[in-house]
Amino acid sequence: MPTKPAGRSKKNPGRTAKAGARKSPVRTSASRTTRQKPARPLTRREVEELRRFLEAERVRLNEELEAIEERLPEVEQVGLDAGGSYDEDLVDVASDTFEREKVLAIENSVHQLLHQVEEALVRVEGGTYGICQVCEQPIHPDRLHALPYARLCIRCKEREERAAPR
Ligand SMILES: [Zn+2]
Repeated sequence: MPTKPAGRSKKNPGRTAKAGARKSPVRTSASRTTRQKPARPLTRREVEELRRFLEAERVRLNEELEAIEERLPEVEQVGLDAGGSYDEDLVDVASDTFEREKVLAIENSVHQLLHQVEEALVRVEGGTYGICQVCEQPIHPDRLHALPYARLCIRCKEREERAAPR
């Protein structure tokens, strides 16, 4: 009995060679022309799924922010009534400041994420979700499933990153 070729499962070669796939997004098959075939737009069902995900994400991030903000005020007050009464807690103040900065950094990134999620939901409402904000072509569904609040297609995103590296 001959062994079955395992080739069937390797239907999607783009997934295996992630690094090499950068230059050639999605379907390279036919055209090597400059004009790339645009990705298919999302189906309504997919938009709906992603909308639900984004809404859940918004709830989650808001809860996270609340939890973070609960931790902040007590640290803040140390600085506020700093009239001179705090020498004895100087060590505490220092570590509180450090802790506060850490918490603020986390808060900041959660805020940014929440903002991106909210903007994506606005695009869902406006019917422009899944459309690249630069070239106005559909963003590939795979990308949106990986990054539901993506506002640029992969090519424009890469271009943007090249233009303004962090
Ligand atoms: Zn684009």
